[in-house]
Amino acid sequence: MKQSRTLIPTLREMPADAEIKSHQFLLRAGFIRQVASGVYTYMPLAKRVLDKIENIIREEMENAGAAELLMPALQPAELWQESGRWHTYGDELMRLRDRHGRGFALGATHEEVITSLVNDDVQSYKKMPLTLYQIQTKFRDEQRPRFGLLRGREFIMKDAYSFHTSEESLDEVYQKIYKAYTNIFTRCELDFRAVLADSGAIGGKDTQEFMVLSDIGEDTIVYSDTSDYAANLEMAEAPQNYDKPTDIEKELVKVETPAQKSIEEVSRFLNSHPGHCIKSLVFKADDEYVMILVRGDHEVNDIKVKNGLNAKIVELAEHVEIEHLLECPIGSLGPINLNEKMKVYADHAVKALANAICGANEDGYHYMNVQPCRDFTVDKYMDFRFIKEGDPSPDGKGKVQFARGIEVGHIFKLGKTYSEAMGASYLDVNGRSQSYIMGCYGIGVSRTLSAVAEQFNDENGLVWPVNIAPYHIHVIPVNTKDEAQSYLAEELYELFKSNRYEVLLDDRSERPGVKFKDSDLIGLPVRITVGKKANDGIVEVKVRKTGEMFEVTKDEILPMLA
Ligand code: ATP
Ligand code: MG
Ligand code: MG
Ligand code: MG
Repeated sequence: MKQSRTLIPTLREMPADAEIKSHQFLLRAGFIRQVASGVYTYMPLAKRVLDKIENIIREEMENAGAAELLMPALQPAELWQESGRWHTYGDELMRLRDRHGRGFALGATHEEVITSLVNDDVQSYKKMPLTLYQIQTKFRDEQRPRFGLLRGREFIMKDAYSFHTSEESLDEVYQKIYKAYTNIFTRCELDFRAVLADSGAIGGKDTQEFMVLSDIGEDTIVYSDTSDYAANLEMAEAPQNYDKPTDIEKELVKVETPAQKSIEEVSRFLNSHPGHCIKSLVFKADDEYVMILVRGDHEVNDIKVKNGLNAKIVELAEHVEIEHLLECPIGSLGPINLNEKMKVYADHAVKALANAICGANEDGYHYMNVQPCRDFTVDKYMDFRFIKEGDPSPDGKGKVQFARGIEVGHIFKLGKTYSEAMGASYLDVNGRSQSYIMGCYGIGVSRTLSAVAEQFNDENGLVWPVNIAPYHIHVIPVNTKDEAQSYLAEELYELFKSNRYEVLLDDRSERPGVKFKDSDLIGLPVRITVGKKANDGIVEVKVRKTGEMFEVTKDEILPMLA
């Protein structure tokens, strides 16, 4: 591709609001442009990187026995009502109405659509196991879109879904996909780690996240310095042997005293551990207890907010009675598994807490990721641990270490959660109706692009790994007005192309300084500079990653690249 023919609008200045390296460089090197908060155009260079990541994903998914399809982004509300998620998914789901007033959602994920599809078209046990995947645009109205493509409101995801007649079959496919993910992220040259995750509110059992190690990651990884143990913080702090959520109503009524005690404990903990976020609070209402789970994951990076948050919660924990909370305005939180009375208390308390927390910082940040806890019980809450670095850890071997991670992939054994909710079934070998056993597997494709940019850069710009670089070689004639230089540059351009290299030729009549700066920003693996020695057929080769530079004759180039 000739640079004069494509669109790579580089920027000299540091863009305002771009806080992290990948976001800054992707903007400056002309890879992305923002259209609205969390909504981006992928410019020609980024499109090429996306295509390469997608092709790697396709190869590995097909190897794992998955077939590609493409489902619609526009999904009827009825499907989400069947699974129950129309009410529980919350504000992240983008909802709209058609001209007839019918409700729709823009796909945040596709469990509903695929479960309904398979229910219609796969009636026999003979068709399973079946794994289907797609690469498609997803919509999530994130509370706090940020970091460019890392947390968008419109983003590209690869999502796969598997259907089984037995747990063994699910285990098998889950392992295959685990291997495929390991291959995919390895081929993208990412420094990553698979960690145990918490199956939390969705139910299901095994689930793992693929985390790219990075200080700007929004997730905390807990790992052991001597064993293979690695989990996300929620999982590491969750009580052992907790799998099935129990009925919170019964448990809450049963519990007599621990609520007050736990608040004191929490206060004490927060006072002695500045910088930690609180996980949950239990409020007493009449003779019953309401538990509120507060998730702090997304703010943990920000000391200012964090301290403000903790101070406010400690204050709340010490002084606030449920009566005071009841004076706060009511917010709608969607149905929760509490009886009506408890629901109202939880509503008030959560809203009050959210308001209190939002009021606790002056930065205009909204801290609203506060949800009533549906599937933890007070008893279990008492087993929750606060983990800090240096603690003995969770698998009994070694000491706890913390790292930050970017979640690029997530695999999940769903079991029958969706098939049962939606009444989706097949006929088994005896002709009896059975619910499908399911798995689901996601990769953030656009997030992966950003994660690579975050791990591969230096002070001058991006440094693409060969496998997913937008082009392999950047050919730069220093002076396009010089005939020998232009001629040799064109000749090399054609030579590389005919040898199946992807080449970007900077045929612009810009000053050399501008061309070199742009070239460093864009970060192709190899740069070939055609300068004064063009007459002698000599060019300069520069390796972007190492900065290594040497001169070669045009005949030596191809063998050298190989
Ligand atoms: P997060 O914890 O970061 O909000 P998630 O757990 O909600 O992500 P999943 O539902 O597991 O996300 O979706 C599968 C994958 O999609 C994630 O592992 C991530 O790589 C990607 N993803 C999720 N949300 C976004 C987003 N807002 N922008 C870009 N990629 C995303
Ligand atoms: Mg999310
Ligand atoms: Mg997550
Ligand atoms: Mg996830």
